Amino acid sequence: MSKILLPTSTAGSLPKPSWLAEPEKLWSPWKFEGEELLQAKQDALLVSLAEQVAAGIDIVSDGEQTRQHFVTTFIEHLNGVDFNKRETVRIRNRYDASVPSVVGDVSRPKSVFVEDAKFLRAHTDKLIKWALPGPMTMIDTLYDGHYKSREKLAWEFAKILNEEAKELEAVGVDIIQFDEPAFNVFFDELNDWGIAALERAVEGLKCQTAVHICYGYGIKANTDWKQTLGSEWRQYEESFPLLQKSNIDIISLESQNSKVPMDLIELLRGKKVMLGAIDVATNQIETPDEVADTLRKALQFVEAENLYPCTNCGMAPLSRTVARGKLNALSQGAAIIRGELGGQ
Ligand SMILES: [Zn+2]
Repeated sequence: MSKILLPTSTAGSLPKPSWLAEPEKLWSPWKFEGEELLQAKQDALLVSLAEQVAAGIDIVSDGEQTRQHFVTTFIEHLNGVDFNKRETVRIRNRYDASVPSVVGDVSRPKSVFVEDAKFLRAHTDKLIKWALPGPMTMIDTLYDGHYKSREKLAWEFAKILNEEAKELEAVGVDIIQFDEPAFNVFFDELNDWGIAALERAVEGLKCQTAVHICYGYGIKANTDWKQTLGSEWRQYEESFPLLQKSNIDIISLESQNSKVPMDLIELLRGKKVMLGAIDVATNQIETPDEVADTLRKALQFVEAENLYPCTNCGMAPLSRTVARGKLNALSQGAAIIRGELGGQ
């Protein structure tokens, strides 16, 4: 797909400008409404795109300037979910949150992100990637008093995601990414129906497809959880063999400063690996050499043409200065390795 060796990209969100929403915060409320909000989001998208281009990022995105949250904003556009009827549930077995309820059959009355994707497509000739939530992560963010079956609800969401993905493909999105942090937690379900639901979501797509599985944003609930995972994080050992056999093209994972053993990538042999070479849980900006070191280690287990340098996760909670520095480091680190490979 990409003629560039080691094409760089980000896992998803980038910081929002302070005039759009309160910065360095997740779920930050918008500062505008109606038509003004639409204009402001589009302006922010252009700023975010310009920053990615200036940093030399090869596969660009909207930086999630168009959404408040990676899962909820998509669900807000669906029928069958009542946002006023809230219940407290435990998310990814990690933290309690007040979430909306499924009260009837879920459906998508109209496109959710297609106009935003069209807007991004109209403003760049680079490859573009668009992120959607994965079915398992969606059900884990809701209380379901209607289907009363996680599998059934995930299947319904997979069908809805497939409709949205097909429309995104039609407006020129090159890579559609499904965010599935839940794949690092619910291993029995992953095996029973998680991969099948994800494959249902990508059914019939001709564009590239990716799944992003991470250890989350650098928020306290996640960093506390990571403390309990021991000296080697082997969660990917559950999902990678299943994904290697799946028809998903690209697997996006976290690596920089994480305790994931690099050789687990071997389990994905033949797939494209979008490798997190930037830590999003610290304000410390990596040096290009640190990024290059991570990529060099990964190249022991993945062919160069299948390695896509990326960030560990989204950078929405970081300051714009830090995020900009990290984008530059990613791009410069990849350039170091391209130079080494070219010299062989
Ligand atoms: Zn992530």
